[in-house]
Amino acid sequence: MSDCIFCKIVNGELPSATIYENDEFKVILDRFPANEGHVLILVKDHVANIYEIDPEKAGRLFTLAAKIARIMKERLGFAHMNVMQNNGTVAGQTVFHFHLHLIPRYEDDGITIAYQPLDLTDAQIEDMRKKLELSL
Ligand code: AMP
Ligand code: ZN
Repeated sequence: MSDCIFCKIVNGELPSATIYENDEFKVILDRFPANEGHVLILVKDHVANIYEIDPEKAGRLFTLAAKIARIMKERLGFAHMNVMQNNGTVAGQTVFHFHLHLIPRYEDDGITIAYQPLDLTDAQIEDMRKKLELSL
């Protein structure tokens, strides 16, 4: 994708603070971080979102995320972390090339990544459960 900034980062046309890469993923520091040590794992091939990524590759991406999260925790000494992945504008996606956010959380850091829970009845939960019940 010629106008995609993450494709440009992956192929070296745009600079990035890269901490790791392999044949499938490039791991960089977010240039406009939510918090100190905000890391992005980019897939190297251009897919926009969770509906397009190969599920097996998504599995490998999360395996990598779990490894990197532990190393980040050791090196940066934070206690907590948000793992985030946005799909579509309403969900807050601004770069339409699949990526996973690893956002360190420090005591009293004042960052808000939050939502107000809906107040649903048990019947509403059951209706939704029926809609989404899976046989994969
Ligand atoms: P999202 O809103 O989930 O699509 O996340 C896109 C992320 O890309 C944001 O956290 C941005 O700060 C980050 N970002 C935008 N441009 C760059 C860039 N040139 N290098 C690194 N990160 C970037
Ligand atoms: Zn791209």
